[in-house]
Amino acid sequence: MPRMLLDLQNRGQLAAGMSSFSPYREQILDTFKQIGTVIEAFRLNHPGKYESIMQEYAGRAAIGHVRYATCGANDRSYAQPFERHHGCKWKWFSFAFNGQLANFSELRAELLSLADYHLVRETDTEVIMHYLSHELRGDEKPDLVQVFRNLSQKFDGSYNLVYLDAMGDMVILRDPKGFRPLCFAQDGPLFAAASESVALLNLGFRNIRSLEPGEMIVIQNNQMRKELFAPRQTPSHCFFEWIYFANVASTLDERSVYMARAALGKELARQERVLEKVPLDDDTIVVPVPDTGKAAADAMAFELGLRSVEGLMRNRYIGRTFIEGTNRADRARLKYTPLREVLAGKRVLLIEDTIVRSTTLKSLLHHMREKGGAREVHVRVGCPPIVAPCFYGIDMSTIRELFAPRFMKGPRPTAVEQDAMAAELGADSLCYLPLEAVARCIGLSADHLCRACITGKYPTPTGERLYQLALRNRHGEGNGRTYEMNAEPAIAQ
Ligand code: SF4
Repeated sequence: MPRMLLDLQNRGQLAAGMSSFSPYREQILDTFKQIGTVIEAFRLNHPGKYESIMQEYAGRAAIGHVRYATCGANDRSYAQPFERHHGCKWKWFSFAFNGQLANFSELRAELLSLADYHLVRETDTEVIMHYLSHELRGDEKPDLVQVFRNLSQKFDGSYNLVYLDAMGDMVILRDPKGFRPLCFAQDGPLFAAASESVALLNLGFRNIRSLEPGEMIVIQNNQMRKELFAPRQTPSHCFFEWIYFANVASTLDERSVYMARAALGKELARQERVLEKVPLDDDTIVVPVPDTGKAAADAMAFELGLRSVEGLMRNRYIGRTFIEGTNRADRARLKYTPLREVLAGKRVLLIEDTIVRSTTLKSLLHHMREKGGAREVHVRVGCPPIVAPCFYGIDMSTIRELFAPRFMKGPRPTAVEQDAMAAELGADSLCYLPLEAVARCIGLSADHLCRACITGKYPTPTGERLYQLALRNRHGEGNGRTYEMNAEPAIAQ
């Protein structure tokens, strides 16, 4: 399990954990979890301690999780899997969850309006646990497909789940819009599933497939079956996975992340030729912001006949805790070292995967000139402007925290607006990827992608409603996330 979680570390670094099932233990179902990265949580740097964890939790089935927070505090009680102990084996379960329930405030309010509920955490994971427990009430074990079918009628948002109970029954499920990726593979008696294909590939699986939105895999009595738990809908795969979030070695919904990022670079190159803003000569170099901008930068440089060089070195050993104790501007200084030998006197086309809040980038540009001696820095962004919040699992939940909306009047950035953004960042020029290019680069049709944060058009009713709330609060002073402000006790369907 830790081996798989290491390959998924890009999806969250706050905590890591696993639940395993073994009928030969007193704790048939048992959960280990700690805050920190996989290395920290599972003590991978201490072979003795790691071995003893793995021996204690050895079993014939397991589920695991790495935590990325869109809500809730950073303490161990928020780490997943969430285990709910019960004396009845089919009511004793553990689950882990990837996504964000957009309507979790309403679901929470509804639970609290029922008799004698008391919730202790500000997280959708706890809400899911109680709704699951509620579905498992009664004297007879319910059909697990029906359990999740009922939940799908209440949940609005992104929710990929893995579920394991003390009978050894397992469920792997992808939400009906398929926001987040989920894939699986089988080799003889071995079955594995993960958010990203790279985790399965590195275990040696070859025939890796994506679970379709609204599908679940149920494993009971050593038999595996695939079921549809929610009616088929037009999918809304999160485009941000390919552009920024996912591991570059993964293939999601049969579309390679690396190839999508390389295609972005080619689009940026085409745009550069049309713009004619920067002379394409020996004094111009292409530099990626490590590490997610690299594939796009290499492809762009190749198309333009320029050199793609590492003008920024990432400090890989700085440590998450050390970085988190600083403000965002200082993080750039700690994370990246500009290489004077590469940058001095050059015109730099700096390739950034996306601009969300801009604080890190602003500071980075300053250091590239100050320490690196770059003559000019032209920022090229492999993503359209982020103009709206995400309510489906990426932590950018208000408009006021975003960079681009402060400058844009319409849905697309004008040349004048991009110049104003460049001036604010301290760049010589700035150009975003055009909106239409996103679907083309990924190789999916635009109506099969969620692009809400770049269009303001949300694929679910709660998303639409929260966006209106975010627009009303865009100039507000509060620090709360939009979905945490929204607690009207009615469930949106
Ligand atoms: S709003 Fe943006 S980040 Fe969130 S799921 Fe949609 S595309 Fe992805």
